[in-house]
Amino acid sequence: MDFDRAPRLVFWETTKACPLACVHCRATAQRDRAPDELTTEEGKAIIDDLAAAPRPTPVLILTGGDCLQRPDLGELTEYAKTLDVPVAISPSVSPSLSAATLSMLRANGVRNASLSLDGAIAETHEQIRQVPGHFADTIRAISLLQEHGFAVQINSAVMAQNVRELADIATLLVRNGVRTWEVFFLIAVGRGHAIAEIESHEYEDVCHFLVDAAQYGMTVRTVEAPFFRRVRDWRARRPDSSIDPAVEFRLGPLYRDLHARLREQMGEPTSRVLAPTVATRDGKGIVFVGHDGRVYPAGFLPLPLGSVRDKGVLEIYRDDPVLKAIRSAEFHGRCGHCEYADECGGSRARAYAATGDPLADDPACQHLRCATPRVEASSPR
Ligand code: SF4
Repeated sequence: MDFDRAPRLVFWETTKACPLACVHCRATAQRDRAPDELTTEEGKAIIDDLAAAPRPTPVLILTGGDCLQRPDLGELTEYAKTLDVPVAISPSVSPSLSAATLSMLRANGVRNASLSLDGAIAETHEQIRQVPGHFADTIRAISLLQEHGFAVQINSAVMAQNVRELADIATLLVRNGVRTWEVFFLIAVGRGHAIAEIESHEYEDVCHFLVDAAQYGMTVRTVEAPFFRRVRDWRARRPDSSIDPAVEFRLGPLYRDLHARLREQMGEPTSRVLAPTVATRDGKGIVFVGHDGRVYPAGFLPLPLGSVRDKGVLEIYRDDPVLKAIRSAEFHGRCGHCEYADECGGSRARAYAATGDPLADDPACQHLRCATPRVEASSPR
């Protein structure tokens, strides 16, 4: 795909309103809608813009806050259907996620939905989501979406608080028929400033564990950890099942524990590694429209590039010099001379949060630091 011409995914923060108050919320969502949110007509203008994009038409992902708090959700999705613009939703689990609303969205052509689940047990998830009973509600919501014919993706944010539950979360998702698990690596924006990230040496352990978790019929993706692609590539070069990744890649106790727990619950892998190969990153294949129309490279990268109130989102995406540099992999530091610069490119959001430079290297990645794994990382596939 030519990501210079158009993004693959356009995230639109349709509203700031959300009935939840999650401790790590990127959007710092609030109870009520914000007065400066895009109007219905301005939302339709985004849809018009995407309908005119080169094929394949970018997917519009309605996020928030909680997109179900937009009273014009039916009108917007119906309009997108008439123009053949694919729409996915990322709602909060609340009473607004009702059978009637889901039936309406399916009738309007929406078939992909993502929900958040941040713990394998109620206590962990509800500490993060701040709503008693929300864990059981989320499990019920997965079933409700499936009953209405949605392909369900679960998003989990990784933080110190829940990292040891990742194997149990993976097991829970596979057993509940979830098709895609998208694992977010926390960036200190919004309320995420107050949350403890995992230790720097644990990023590598978690990525290797995710390669393991992607071998049970469920696709695994990461957000703000594109170096997962490097790890997946390294593991693909060592397909021999007799090799212990913990030894081969000098991994830590977190990997060993998560790997052992996954095997204990799920047994031997049942599928090939299901992990995407499309080399997107913040600003390359991905762009984000805020609630007030301001455009950013991604939801976790608060660097405003312009507003859809002045220009089309595709024009901003195509012409912005920072996004052009990101797409051309013109990075600084380790990411600048890494053999995975294009395939991975590091988290631009984490680089920006750490240094104020969206082209700096990603401080979470351990590659090209002093300790190197035994695999020969010549050129990526
Ligand atoms: S150094 Fe940068 S480009 Fe290379 S693998 Fe790490 S994050 Fe990716």
